Order: sequence, then C-alpha cells, then structure tokens
Amino acid sequence: MLALGPMLVASDCGQNHSNLVDSVAAEQTAATFELDVSRSQSDLAELTRHPHPLGSIRQREVASWLVSRLTSEGIRAVQENFNVVTPNPANRRTSEKTSLTVNLLGHNIYATDVGRPNPPCVVALASHYDSKDIAGVKYLGANDSGSSTAVLLQLLTHIKKHNAYHQMSCGFVGWFFDGEESVLANWTDGELSHPSKMIDHTYGSRMLASKLMPCIFSGKPSRCLPAENGLNTGPAVAAVILLDMIGSPGLKLSRDLQSSPELQRIAQRGAALLGLPEIFTEQATSIEDDHRPFRALGIPAIDLIDFQHLQHWHQPSDDVGTLSPVSLNIAGYLALYVASSLANPANPKPPAKKINHQ
Ligand SMILES: [Zn+2]
Repeated sequence: MLALGPMLVASDCGQNHSNLVDSVAAEQTAATFELDVSRSQSDLAELTRHPHPLGSIRQREVASWLVSRLTSEGIRAVQENFNVVTPNPANRRTSEKTSLTVNLLGHNIYATDVGRPNPPCVVALASHYDSKDIAGVKYLGANDSGSSTAVLLQLLTHIKKHNAYHQMSCGFVGWFFDGEESVLANWTDGELSHPSKMIDHTYGSRMLASKLMPCIFSGKPSRCLPAENGLNTGPAVAAVILLDMIGSPGLKLSRDLQSSPELQRIAQRGAALLGLPEIFTEQATSIEDDHRPFRALGIPAIDLIDFQHLQHWHQPSDDVGTLSPVSLNIAGYLALYVASSLANPANPKPPAKKINHQ
C-alpha cells in the first residue's frame, strides 16, 4: 500500500516570474495537499448520520450543515434551492391512479471566492452529496457520496489557505450537487421503463448547467457563470473536475470516455508523478455522471471515479468503515493537480519533480 506523504518535490525552474505562478509551482502546491484524516472522519460521520436523498428533510439539514461547515473555514457558500419534477415511483406499480410525477425540492451548495479574487475564469471542483433512496434499506452512502463530499471540503479549505492558488490565472469554485442519484431504482428507468419517459438523475448538475450563459467578453466559445449582480456575466468556467466514489481501498479510477481526453492526460501525468501510473483502469469505459451536462456545453470536464470496487455500491454495507484515507488522499491530490494545471495555464512546461513514497 502506498503512503502518500510526506512528499519531496524538486523543481529545476528557478524563481517565479510575472504575477502568475507557473505550472511547476502550481503542481508543487498541489503536492502539499494532505488529507486531515480526523477532520474527514468527523465530516463523514455527519454526512452518514442518516439517509439523505433528494427531497428529504435530512438532505435539507445536510445542505445547511455544508453551508456552515464552509463558512467556518472562511469560505463563502451560497445555497440554491430548486424545484425538480421527478418520476413518481408509485406510478410504476399502480399505473392509473397516481400522478406520473412528483415535485421535489433540491439544494445545490456553491462555494465561491476560493482562490484569486474577482477571477476572469474559474475551475470548478465538484461532488454530489445526496445519498440514494433505496426502498427498505437504510442506505448511508459513505463512499457514494460521502467520500467525495468530505474530500471536496478539504480541497476548498486547502485552496483557501494557500496563497499560491490566489495568484493563478483562474479562481476556484466548489459545487456540491443534490439529486445525482435516480429517484427510481435504476439510472435509466426514468427514460426507458417509467411511463413519464424522463431523465431521472443528475438533477442538480443539469440545473446549474442550464443556467450557464455564453460569455460576452471571450474570443472563443465559452460558458460563464451568471453574474451575481445580474449584470453581464460572471467568470468563465474553465473546467469541471468531478469526484465520486473515491474511498475504496486500492483506488482504481475509471478511464472514462465521457471525460475530456486532455484532462485525462493531465490526471494520468499526475498519477505518474505520484508513482501510481496504474491507478487508472486499462480498459476505457463510459461513465454517466454530473460532469456530462457541462461537457455537453463544451466545457472541459473529468470524472475521477472508482467504478471498479462495487461490492458496497448501493448496499447497506456502504459505511465509513469501508473507506480508505489513502484513497481519499490520492484522489484529492489528483483533483488538485488537474485543477492547478488548468487554473494556471501560463506555463504548461511539465515539472521536474520527485515524490517519495513507500
Ligand atoms: Zn450512487
């Protein structure tokens, strides 16, 4: 088993020039990330206290907790409540008498102002934080979705605290999505077998993607966040880096055909620098997840997801005891490595770097 830290980082690049740190420094900064294990354990304990699917009272409580948790780290957090129309699970069983759909209230949480102030562009780090509603099962979702939520909290805290990120070309935002899980039993039931014939997953990410707008002051096609003051547009979304199911021991990340090839290459370079070139699966697979609505808009996006270790997936056994801090640390590092490379594209020279690992 690999132990991540402490890591030695060497560089041949000399000092920083201009007001932008170069990518070598950016990647050095990513390498300083180290998971606070006790913090992740207390966050996971809160996230897995009760099932918290889309529309539940507990999910509303978790949303409030996320906002106060971010605020306690000095990070500005905004909660966006939204109504969604979902397939009615009861309709499937008694087709005539019940309505086809059910309206639910979702809550996305956005961490803003992380990194460079008033940035022209942002790199989004993202995770879903709802647990799947499984009939007859107390499903807590420690790996799916607690693991990525806990790591995302630490990545944002890390970026907030380290000045090198504040000097990059782009800023950072954190997106905590509600409603990634399907309301019906299976991912494609809404489209294929339910009479409503509707997409039944990724509610929060699709809602946010629908609010992005063409950037006004950009020479190339790009999408911008809505401006908070209602004027013009907010920063361009340079990339979306999604984390999901990253807590299994012996982490094995999917080589995902729905992720941008360029971001996959960067992530694989980061894995090689960690001494873990084999952490990505050899076989490519296509993953449907919260990154797809953004890629559909032309935004570069990657899903860092382990879809190999599925023995606890959507099972009552998906509890915190199954999670590996080493895996959380590796996934967090890789997300930061990709994010730093994209937020700081001024000097894409690959770094000269050594990492000690055991
Ligand atoms: Zn799931």
